[in-house]
Amino acid sequence: MQVGIVGAGMVGSAAAYALALSGTVLRIVLVDRDEKMARAQAEDIAHAVPFASSTQVDAGDYDAMAGANVVILAAGVSQKPGETRLELLGRNAEVFRTVVGEVRRVAPDAILLVASNPVDIMTDIATRLSGLPPARVIGSGTILDTARFRWLLGQHLGIAPQSVHAYVMGEHGDSEVLAWSAVRAGSVALNSFAAQVGAAITGDVRARIDTGVRRAAYTIIEGKGGTWYGIGAGLARIVRAIARNEQAVLSVSIRTPEVEGYRDVALSVPRVVGRDGVIADLFPELDDGEHAALAESARILKETADALTL
Ligand code: ADP
Repeated sequence: MQVGIVGAGMVGSAAAYALALSGTVLRIVLVDRDEKMARAQAEDIAHAVPFASSTQVDAGDYDAMAGANVVILAAGVSQKPGETRLELLGRNAEVFRTVVGEVRRVAPDAILLVASNPVDIMTDIATRLSGLPPARVIGSGTILDTARFRWLLGQHLGIAPQSVHAYVMGEHGDSEVLAWSAVRAGSVALNSFAAQVGAAITGDVRARIDTGVRRAAYTIIEGKGGTWYGIGAGLARIVRAIARNEQAVLSVSIRTPEVEGYRDVALSVPRVVGRDGVIADLFPELDDGEHAALAESARILKETADALTL
């Protein structure tokens, strides 16, 4: 398995680092319009490999990633303090016009894994520009929001985040939906589990966790200018599901035939991911408020995507 990464900035390099340490793939190739920086990142990451795995890490031009099975699209301009993800759109759509064409030329069979923000719209753009089936153009979507949700719930309940089943759906951004009514902890419904361990989900707890998930990126960006370790590990997780044909259930974004009455909209729901990309979409049981919130998220994304002529 060979992975190309376009955009060797903070997110692309964090994904490369997580992937290289995990030893999931044989080779990683970094491409960036700043070639010197891509080479430096590749060399720095390659020096971590002797401690952990045997992955080969290189940098090069697009031709160097010929035959890649997965290409992570992490090129673009990063979110500024106070800037919403949707405001990034205009600047990043322009970058994708070139990048997607080049990737399709050198790696026509690759699954595209979109990381650039606003990720749902960029996934829609990459799907339209590439002409690939939507199942093979996967946005990282809410994979990180879901991890944050599980981590905060696990901390409150006193259990490992891996033992919490919970999903964030819709936009990776302000309109995202925490699917509270579908949360299970060790197979037990959330409120029942919380009562059994004496950690009730009060209104205050729920509000704190909701804000912790929803505002995480803004808080981290204020402190260090961007976020990259979490998403880097999330991208590596998706690549692993593809590389090992895991059929893992992950909340990722693809252009979806229909969500809450909106057609062909890219957003996240839990999906089965394996060698061929997304194999199935899952729709957890939601309450009325969550259905309405998901519909609103779909409406916002659909209107934004439709406004773009490519
Ligand atoms: P992030 O935090 O999202 O990773 P960065 O600014 O650190 O943001 O990284 C984005 C990377 O994308 C930069 O290294 C930049 O040089 C690269 N990039 C921007 N435009 C292009 C392009 N057209 N082709 C290849 N790489 C690009």
